Amino acid sequence: MTDCIFCKIIAGEIPSVKVYEDADVLAFLDISQATKGHTLLVPKKHVPDVFAYDATLAATVFSRLPKLARAIQASDPQITGMNILNNNGAVAYQSVFHSHIHLIPRYSDQDDFSIHFGDHSDRFDTAALNAVADAIRAKVGD
Ligand code: AMP
Ligand code: ZN
Repeated sequence: MTDCIFCKIIAGEIPSVKVYEDADVLAFLDISQATKGHTLLVPKKHVPDVFAYDATLAATVFSRLPKLARAIQASDPQITGMNILNNNGAVAYQSVFHSHIHLIPRYSDQDDFSIHFGDHSDRFDTAALNAVADAIRAKVGD
């Protein structure tokens, strides 16, 4: 896609700091290091978000995660965990609309990265949860 910053990185038209590449994916350091080693894994094929993946592309991209995660972890003995994130849609904080997976190594609970889920366990009773699941189950085969 001509006007996509990650397609331009993949094509070598703008610079990036690469950490892994094969025929189907590229991994490079996020320009804004949420923590040291923050890496983006992208399919070389332009797809905007997870909703556009087929099973083959998903298998290709997501299968690279374990070895990349282990390599990042092994790169610094201070790394004690990792958050793996994939934002889909502006409302979900996606800002670059070429699908990418964030690998964010964690050093401590003071390392300037956090996720807040909150506790909403009293929001849906069992009947309401079943209604939500029914609506999803009805669409899984689509
Ligand atoms: P998201 O908000 O999930 O769409 O994440 C997009 C990420 O791309 C952000 O963390 C940016 O810092 C990162 N980013 C944007 N431009 C570049 C670039 N030229 N090189 C590396 N990372 C980039
Ligand atoms: Zn692209």
